[in-house]
Amino acid sequence: MAPTPKVISDKDEMRNWSRSMRAQGKRIGLVPTMGFLHAGHLSLVAQARSHSDVVAVSIYVNPVQFGPTEDLATYPSDFHGDLRKLAALPGGVDVVFHPPNLYDYGGPPVSSGPAHESWVRVEKLELGLCGKSRPIFFRGVATVVTKLFNIVEPDVAMFGKKDYQQWRIIQRMVRDLDFSIQVIGAEITRDNDGLAMSSRNVHLSPEEREKALSINKSLLRAKSAAKDGQVHCEKLRNLVIKCITDAGGRIDYAEIVDQNNLEKVEQIKSPVVFCVAAWFGKVRLIDNMEINL
Ligand code: AMP
Repeated sequence: MAPTPKVISDKDEMRNWSRSMRAQGKRIGLVPTMGFLHAGHLSLVAQARSHSDVVAVSIYVNPVQFGPTEDLATYPSDFHGDLRKLAALPGGVDVVFHPPNLYDYGGPPVSSGPAHESWVRVEKLELGLCGKSRPIFFRGVATVVTKLFNIVEPDVAMFGKKDYQQWRIIQRMVRDLDFSIQVIGAEITRDNDGLAMSSRNVHLSPEEREKALSINKSLLRAKSAAKDGQVHCEKLRNLVIKCITDAGGRIDYAEIVDQNNLEKVEQIKSPVVFCVAAWFGKVRLIDNMEINL
């Protein structure tokens, strides 16, 4: 087992660490997370290691990406457990960046709100899918990832395709704003029963978890129907919506979109991704499946 990773909570110290690594000619990999780590996160860390010489994992629950009625207060955390999991990885990780608050600048608030007033928006890509029901989510994500990129100054950053829209938004932001960072998308890690791993799965009751398996099952059925020639997206969407609804889930969206621009597709002619968000009790889960015919 590797030693417990070095933990840095101060952003200047974090930047100094990265700069000293770069001065030694090391390539820096960053894995941004909100903690409560599972095997999906750990697979990102392992892949970051294969693309870099030193690996930083950030653990920070970013408050500004949660809407007022969302689950910020109940978002799970287990910082010491996370450190143990990271230390148990082959090679461990070199540093964990765990800031207390990335939006406290020590000054007075701006016009009675928090002092922070600058935002990054990826205007078109953020509109559909999760952006519809979570209108400030991607603004919060793009902003915190920009801050992490500026603090850690990585050469490569790993994002999971589990959050497909987020991955594409970060890639677009990096392109549009000329960050000198390679953004790599990692495949979805699933439990043995097919459920995509998520920190939020811990909130599912056993019954809800059973129902939630309908997401992956229905996506697999849709993919195989597409491979068998069913290229009409309406038909494929109906199949997935029915399967999840029959199981007791409540659909937020089920859309087949272009893999790159995330625009809705009527007929599958080029690589698409079938993206789903659905509620099981009080837990909202997302999942997706790429379909390359
Ligand atoms: P989170 O802590 O949920 O913000 O996730 C941190 C990173 O891990 C994001 O890039 C996610 O897309 C990625 N991730 C979360 N769950 C999975 C999973 N099951 N498979 C692959 N990547 C994941």
